[in-house]
Amino acid sequence: MLGWMLRLLLLFLLVRALMLLLGGVVRGIVKASRPQSEPPSRQPLSGGTLVQDPVCGTYVLQDRALSLRTDAGGTAFFCSERCRSTYDAQAARPR
Ligand SMILES: [Zn+2]
Repeated sequence: MLGWMLRLLLLFLLVRALMLLLGGVVRGIVKASRPQSEPPSRQPLSGGTLVQDPVCGTYVLQDRALSLRTDAGGTAFFCSERCRSTYDAQAARPR
């Protein structure tokens, strides 16, 4: 009999706690975005290194690029799985 009431109360408390947490997060974001007097140029623009895809020539961020170890011992970077497999097929083919 009292079980569902207890559960309802627990749910209510949980929702309240979530709301409080959410409110705190939102306030934190507002607080963090407010001080605009500081120059935002503390970090490099993209925050990553640009590498060129040898297949299509596109520049991609290194941490987002797909990598492949080359026969020469280096690493090649690609914008997509398609470019990587294209490169792989070309490299595997004897000339
Ligand atoms: Zn590509």
